[in-house]
Amino acid sequence: MKRRVTIVGAGVSGLTCAVLFAENGFETSILAEQIGDATNSAAAAAIWYPYDVGSGTEILPWALISYGRFLELARAPESGVSLIELRVFSRLAPIAPPDWARPFATRPLEAGEIPAAFRSGFSIHVPLIETANYLEYLKSRLTNAGGRITGAIRFNKLEEIDRQSDLIVNCAGIGARDLVPDREMEPHRGQVAIVGKLDLPYAVVCDDPPLMYAIPRSGDCVFGGTNDVSDDRAIDPLTTARIVAECERVLGIAAPPLVRERVGLRPGRRAGVRVAAGRLFDGRAVVHNYGHGGAGFTLSWGCAQTVLELARE
Ligand SMILES: Cc1cc2nc3c(=O)[nH]c(=O)nc-3n(C[C@H](O)[C@H](O)[C@H](O)COP(=O)(O)OP(=O)(O)OC[C@H]3O[C@@H](n4cnc5c(N)ncnc54)[C@H](O)[C@@H]3O)c2cc1C
Repeated sequence: MKRRVTIVGAGVSGLTCAVLFAENGFETSILAEQIGDATNSAAAAAIWYPYDVGSGTEILPWALISYGRFLELARAPESGVSLIELRVFSRLAPIAPPDWARPFATRPLEAGEIPAAFRSGFSIHVPLIETANYLEYLKSRLTNAGGRITGAIRFNKLEEIDRQSDLIVNCAGIGARDLVPDREMEPHRGQVAIVGKLDLPYAVVCDDPPLMYAIPRSGDCVFGGTNDVSDDRAIDPLTTARIVAECERVLGIAAPPLVRERVGLRPGRRAGVRVAAGRLFDGRAVVHNYGHGGAGFTLSWGCAQTVLELARE
């Protein structure tokens, strides 16, 4: 008989786990308060890059597994995944490409390639994951493998989940703060401005304050951004104006018209990403997979693989 797994959460973490479980013979259901466009995952651009996630020993291996999976997915246009050149800049101290970036066509940028607002930079080739297409793609892979997804269900604690499942996987993102509960969780609010299509041949990121990025996608361009400790998912129009003005100044362009503003909460965790097996108060098995900060897409396949291994144990 097939083992039954119930996954809480329909963001990138829950969907990726669900695909892996369903395609490996588990009877798989996702239950979540929000699905699709309403999730925090849908607010990301998203670029493969280990950002705002600490430096635990498992981060890089998880990220590299995911890089490999995204490379495969980039061959299927319906996945919403492609490869893009990313230019990472600093405003203050000079930066060099990190050691782990060597396999990814990395090189320091030459003086003529560095906008006046920045001091130094490097180029790396990374997966670009267009979130609307990608979350939909994962959803159809899940349902094609016999899995189910149900929205508008909120749990106050994991013990409320129906007792028919053999295993519970907790992919609640920032929701884990109350659901587990886990006081290490911290919402890292990110606001972005989505503008019309921009003829920019590479993505641009600078982490030095003010955080700035421009990520050109197939039909639009995501300008960012912010990263503040806050739960507030309301859009702040002044922040949008500041983001657009900074992108215009740095790139030396007039921005295309504003299409949409978005806010998402990165699931920050002071103690680092939590992928771990445990027991609920009623004795049932649970595997936690949350706290991916600003790198939930970047780590998604690596973490899901560890979750599956823990479930098989
Ligand atoms: C502006 C912005 C830009 C970003 N850019 C990038 C990027 O370029 N690259 C990258 O890798 N990452 C990026 N991130 C980070 C990335 O988006 C997150 O790490 C990732 O979305 C987390 O996914 P998740 O599935 O764990 O959580 P979420 O997407 O938050 O999903 C959580 C799910 O759990 C459900 N849930 C929560 N609590 C409950 C409950 N009590 N009961 C029932 N359901 C519940 C929610 O409804 C939802 O379905 C960005 C984030 C933001 C905000």
